[in-house]
Order: sequence, then C-alpha cells, then structure tokens
Amino acid sequence: MSEKYCIILGDGMADEPLAELSGMTPLEAAHTPNMDYIAREGSMGLLKTVPEGYSPGSDIANLSVLGYDPVSCYTGRGALEAASMGITLGDEDVAYRCNLVTIRNGIIEDFNAGHISSEEGAALLTSLNKHLTGMICYPGISYRNLIVLPGGKGCESTAPHDVTGQQAELYLPKGSDAEKLLKAMEISREIFADHPVNRDRIRREKNPATSIWPWSGGKHPAIQPFSDIFGLKGGIISAVDLLNGIGTYAKMEIIKVPGATGFIDTDYQAKARYAIEALKYLDFLFIHVEAPDEAGHMGSIEEKVKAIERVDEMIGTIMSQFTGRIAVLPDHPTPIRIKTHTADPVPFAILGKEKDTTTRFSEKEGQKGKYGLLPGTSLIPLLIS
Ligand SMILES: [Zn+2]
Repeated sequence: MSEKYCIILGDGMADEPLAELSGMTPLEAAHTPNMDYIAREGSMGLLKTVPEGYSPGSDIANLSVLGYDPVSCYTGRGALEAASMGITLGDEDVAYRCNLVTIRNGIIEDFNAGHISSEEGAALLTSLNKHLTGMICYPGISYRNLIVLPGGKGCESTAPHDVTGQQAELYLPKGSDAEKLLKAMEISREIFADHPVNRDRIRREKNPATSIWPWSGGKHPAIQPFSDIFGLKGGIISAVDLLNGIGTYAKMEIIKVPGATGFIDTDYQAKARYAIEALKYLDFLFIHVEAPDEAGHMGSIEEKVKAIERVDEMIGTIMSQFTGRIAVLPDHPTPIRIKTHTADPVPFAILGKEKDTTTRFSEKEGQKGKYGLLPGTSLIPLLIS
C-alpha cells in the first residue's frame, strides 16, 4: 500500500508568551498529548508561510502550506472564496470578500456583526441586491459574503478584523473600484438601518449588521491542479470558504462536514470521523480548523486554549485510525495581545519520517527542530519525500 498523508492545520494557533499563562503561550499551556506525540516521535521546524512584503492573511498562508507560491498565483481572497461558493468568475470579474460588520459612531466595532447567521446575512444581502446596479452580492457563510464587480479593476482595501475598534473612514477602499464600492456601502447602511433582521438582532441584544465591508478583491487565480503537482489524490476538510475555494481551484475533493461551523463551537470529532473515512480513498488530506484563530481575534485566552485542546483531541481520534504520515501546524500566529495575524514563522511537526530532539509541540520547540526555517511551499515536498 502506498503511503498516505494528512496535514492538520489549526488556524492561528501560534502565539506569544502571556503573563496570564505564567509566561507560556496558549500552545504551551494547553493539554495537547497528541500534538506533543507528533513532535516527540517526529521532527519539527519553522515554516515561513507569509512571503516578504505580503500581509499575513489566511489566504496567503494556506496557499503556501498547500504548495502554491502566493507570489505567482495570489490575486485576492474574494476570488478564492467565489470558487468555494460555486461562483465561476468571468475573465473581467473582480470578486471582493464582503463582510457584514457593525459600525457605530464611525468606529468598526465588530468585523463579523456578532457572528450573524447565514440566514440573516442572506436576507440582508437579498434586500441590498435589489438596490445595487452593476454589481451583485452573494450570500456565503455567516458574515463571510461576496460582492462581484463585472469589469472591476481592483483597489486598495483593508481587512476589517485588522482595524476593529478604529475609525472606519480611515480604512475605506481606495483606488479604481473604490467609487462603486463606497456607493454600495452607503446603500447598505440605508437598507440595513431599519431592516427586520437588524430589528430582531437588536431585540436579542446581538450586534446588528450596519454595513457591508468589501475587501481583498481579485480575479480568477492561476492555481494548478494539486494532483498534477504532487501526483496525489487530495482532499480538503474546512468550514471556511477561502480554504474550500483554494481546494476547488486545485481540483481537490471538498469534503463538507455537518456541524463544522468555522467557529469555536465547531464539531471537532465530526471532522475527525470524516477525515478517517476520506483517508481510506484519498492519498492526501488537508484538515483545517478555524476555531483557534477566532479565539485569537476575540482576545480570549480561555477560548484559545480550549480550541487548541479540542483540535488535539480531533488529532487523537484521527491518529487512532490513520497510520500514514501526519503534519501539524498553524498557518500564522494570531496573538491574543494584538487580536490579529502576524507574519512570523510558525512551528510545524511531521510524524512518520525521522525523529529529532524536540519534546512537545510549541513555538519554542519548533525553533529547535531539525528542519530549521523553511519556506511555506516546501512543507508538502518535505512531507511526501
Ligand atoms: Zn488563518
């Protein structure tokens, strides 16, 4: 039987030492016997998932981990998510991620409008579409939606999770498509202001979606099929459109898991069960868990440690049934201190090749690993060699 491979990625797991954890990082403070086993019986290193000059988005970092150099293939997050949502972009279309956000008194209070439900988001965007011309919104999962501009040219934009608590007007779109996008934002503010969805949310003491926030637009990216590059039949398990979009362009199997939410309440064990089944017929599986990143954005140490422990239990379930090679890593740090991503290299561990002197899975141990510091795109070649 030929070797099989599994990468388990805990989004944003890496962090910094925290006084509240007696100088430990959340990875160090969490009880992670399975990740520690992978580190101890395998080997570690550090992975530079974000190339110099790029912002540390999950799109950039995960493309690198999957073997695609963002420098040659990245266009924007919106285009990746479009593929996952079943939207085929024409050559002249620019797709932007379109968050539903809460802006009050000019301040971006919440980049996800209180984790608004997909149904509520769809109702708001359906109303908005009736008033838009020359562009269209597509409802996605929760606050993660899309707006497509036919004949768009792209523009400078800012991820709202990077500027939470700051003045919205400082970070509005600038450049070619900005005029159209600003108009759409203005219309959304008017349509959403007294929308039944928001009236209901306010009554339930949830953040209302006061506006759309378009960002990271791009055209159809040039991503080669995964099997052409690595000669492996690959699949992806993720609740996040961005990851499923990369998988769609890469012609990987997209495995949807019921109960996977892209948040800290996701069904970790369901992901493990689906992974075990998928690995029976696939050569390669990429399992992405968004929860630790969301906890990082919330600035919650407790939720981050808990999310990491749930990821570890998920790994344990997979390892009880899967005997191929396993790699575990975050895509980027999402430090509690700053509640957003950084571009620092992340620790990774590979089980099933060789053993080094690392004893547990942590940022510090990653620095001691035998693989040293490698570019993100070299992880899969290393895993399968
Ligand atoms: Zn990420």
